[in-house]
Amino acid sequence: MVGQKFLLAGKGGLNITSHLTGEKLTEKYSPHGFMDAALNLFSPQQLREWLGQLGIPTYTGSSGKVFPEKGISPAQVLKAIVNSLQQRGVHIHTSHELTDFNGQMRFTFLNGNKRIEIHADYAVLALGGASWPVTGSDGKWTEMLNRYGIITLPFQPSNCGVNIGWPAQLMQFHEGKPLKNIVMQVQDVKSRGEALITGYGLEGYAVYPLVPEIRTVLNAGQPVVIRLDLKPANDREALLKRLGNATPGTRVYARCLNLDAAALALVKAFTSQKEFLDPVSFVSALKDLRLPVHSLRGLDEAISVVGGLGLESINADYSLRTFPRIYVAGEMTDWDAPTGGFLLQGCFSGGYYAANEIIRIKRQEMI
Ligand SMILES: Cc1cc2nc3c(=O)[nH]c(=O)nc-3n(C[C@H](O)[C@H](O)[C@H](O)COP(=O)(O)OP(=O)(O)OC[C@H]3O[C@@H](n4cnc5c(N)ncnc54)[C@H](O)[C@@H]3O)c2cc1C
Repeated sequence: MVGQKFLLAGKGGLNITSHLTGEKLTEKYSPHGFMDAALNLFSPQQLREWLGQLGIPTYTGSSGKVFPEKGISPAQVLKAIVNSLQQRGVHIHTSHELTDFNGQMRFTFLNGNKRIEIHADYAVLALGGASWPVTGSDGKWTEMLNRYGIITLPFQPSNCGVNIGWPAQLMQFHEGKPLKNIVMQVQDVKSRGEALITGYGLEGYAVYPLVPEIRTVLNAGQPVVIRLDLKPANDREALLKRLGNATPGTRVYARCLNLDAAALALVKAFTSQKEFLDPVSFVSALKDLRLPVHSLRGLDEAISVVGGLGLESINADYSLRTFPRIYVAGEMTDWDAPTGGFLLQGCFSGGYYAANEIIRIKRQEMI
């Protein structure tokens, strides 16, 4: 089946690109510079125009995220793209696994037990990362590239949840509850928004932007702590003033500070009883609760990955250094971006850029 991860991405609303342009867009991608030429050649605006031509109008939602117009399903978007390709002569062969290639540009596929060899003038590999392997993106292609000395890096989760050792009493009543309008910080990186309390820790859009920093610190063997501000709109003095002389305790905190049960339980879980009942310590914890992160969630749950094909193996035009007529695009290469439509945009832009390079070279060959 075509586009399984694309369909999965659409399950919670297909955030297909972003409204950002120029530097504000390119700075979302790391390592900085690697994606710039591709994003400039096929920008979010061009992606939206192209989708519009395919009969898929888009709109900009909250925080600049771009979606297909309401009522258009991810399957309809995929169908429009596939139809457009087929109308232009593209043949799609599903259930064909690329198992080998060589310098003579012969590519070997397995279709069931059948071995198929084809010759290509040029090729673009877009074999994906290794998150949600059930969608087909299992990252096994790295072995094939390694056979030819092409360096790949271990896949690591990105845009994923974090494991936190929650106390049992917190889980009993608050698993599945959201923490809204919070600010989280790891080292110097801050993120704002919403996170979900899960059985293992935290998930959600306020967590994902912190993952690169968490990964770096964990990989260095250092402990990681998320600093959580449950009341970012108020400073400590304002919160203490709101408490006034009321007798401190759960009900008073909830009423005076407009705190829900999950936020209160979280503070309770990470403070002593004495601290919880002291307004100054309580407010300090509310503004700067320290949550120890044990690890990141696994690849099978991550929205995206880093690792895969190392960028030192790729030329600036996205061709392989050792096989310059083979190009690469999408999540199989070692770049990273946050959620917000930047992942799919990066894949579309990369594919367009590689194809454009091939067309340019073919035209030159014909002169
Ligand atoms: C739950 C979830 C939600 C997401 N939501 C969003 C979102 O809202 N917005 C956004 O921008 N991004 C989102 N993403 C990320 C986005 O879906 C991916 O970044 C994108 O699909 C990657 O595209 P790709 O073409 O590089 O790889 P993939 O979509 O993974 O496709 C790779 C393809 O290569 C095939 N393949 C692998 N090895 C071989 C081989 N040897 N031979 C032949 N074929 C092979 C695989 O079967 C697969 O079909 C989400 C991802 C997940 C998991």
